[in-house]
Amino acid sequence: MSNEWGYSFLISNFSFLITMKPDHDIIIAGGGLSGLSLACAMIRSPLRERSILIVERDAQKGNDRTWGFWAKRPTLFDAAVSHTWEFLISVGAEGPQRVSLGDYRYKVIRGLDFYDFARRDLATCPNIHFLYGNIESVEDGRDAACVTVDGQSVYGGWVFDSHPVPMSNTDTPYQHLKMHFRGWEIETPGPVFDPRAVTFLDFRTPQEQEMRFFYVLPFADNRALVEFTVFSKDVLRRSQYEEALRHYLADILHVSQYRLISEERGSVPITDDPLLRKLGRRVMAIGARAGRVKPSTGYAFMRVQKDSDEIVKSMLLYGSPFDAPDDPDLYDVLDAVLLKVMQENGEHIKAAFTAMFERNPIDLILRFLDEEATPAENLGLITSMSSSVFVKAAMQVATHENLLDIMKG
Ligand SMILES: Cc1cc2nc3c(=O)[nH]c(=O)nc-3n(C[C@H](O)[C@H](O)[C@H](O)COP(=O)(O)OP(=O)(O)OC[C@H]3O[C@@H](n4cnc5c(N)ncnc54)[C@H](O)[C@@H]3O)c2cc1C
Repeated sequence: MSNEWGYSFLISNFSFLITMKPDHDIIIAGGGLSGLSLACAMIRSPLRERSILIVERDAQKGNDRTWGFWAKRPTLFDAAVSHTWEFLISVGAEGPQRVSLGDYRYKVIRGLDFYDFARRDLATCPNIHFLYGNIESVEDGRDAACVTVDGQSVYGGWVFDSHPVPMSNTDTPYQHLKMHFRGWEIETPGPVFDPRAVTFLDFRTPQEQEMRFFYVLPFADNRALVEFTVFSKDVLRRSQYEEALRHYLADILHVSQYRLISEERGSVPITDDPLLRKLGRRVMAIGARAGRVKPSTGYAFMRVQKDSDEIVKSMLLYGSPFDAPDDPDLYDVLDAVLLKVMQENGEHIKAAFTAMFERNPIDLILRFLDEEATPAENLGLITSMSSSVFVKAAMQVATHENLLDIMKG
């Protein structure tokens, strides 16, 4: 049974009341990554003629995160990218190797740059309005949905909801983990980093029966964001993240002298529980609460961009957002298998990911992680990384997903 984020009560109990004319054609609840990305996609389409209201609690959104992602095509937000890498440091049995990313580029956008860029972009469209306040509820209706903001009701013909609500039920056959991390942006007295090569998924840290790895995003030869990431049920104590960071810097990167410039930390819920997209006749979930954070990697930036484009396409072609395509079933199952292994035998992920990077070209790995590889490529790649632990997890997942049918396509 899918998780409805405690939403169904409001949807079912109040929907009959809302039959009035909407104040706005579209309301976007939550002006973070997915809300602003959707608005920016909309104003590049005929939807720019509609009146669009963005409701956001935080009028002063600051530098609350840094988005890393890979892409081989330009994105709407390239003007806000602060650094681009064309090589990857892949760490296998033979130690770190510098690998070309081919047509792909790994990019980062700082939160503040993203919000500033999106707000400036949206300010060019007279039909975009912002309302700053706390969303108290979102209620579905026949002709419009109602968003209550600090006690005031606003009605939208369509409401796209990204404001997070706690999950109502985690007692399901699905996995519920957290991807949590702490990163240090540091400066060293001399050159120690390769500013053209990004490191991701470096497992050279004690796994402690969990999936634990490091990212290194070097912005210059003496400045980098070094981030310790863990997938597990519970977050760690601050001292545990700091100890892992100190150990990685000193013993793996051999960096002993550095100055801390800034710190990033966060925790993102990760689940294979199929989250509802359609929250009502007039309400669609977007962003993290719509499952746009890929469960096995924690990446969301490019999935959100793709989703925004699909929603716009669906609205223009069918007059409704609900015809945007679902995620491919095969990848849902693969994510579920990986999450099961992460939850029960997290230390096995290291071997699987290391094998994947050692035995496959980077272009294929990135297409696989983007859910764009062909069935034959998927099979080859899965075979290259699987072990008995994965086969066992796949069998368990198969009891609540029709695995064989999905594999057959
Ligand atoms: C610190 C951090 C780093 C991350 N790094 C990466 C990365 O490198 N690459 C990647 O692909 N993904 C990353 N992610 C995962 C994912 O991209 C982000 O979580 C992303 O922001 C999700 O988009 P969203 O729109 O669902 O949520 P958000 O961007 O969080 O937007 C939700 C918005 O709703 C607003 N809001 C919440 N409650 C209310 C309310 N009651 N009333 C009004 N407004 C409300 C919030 O202020 C926020 O602006 C990271 C996540 C975090 C937390």
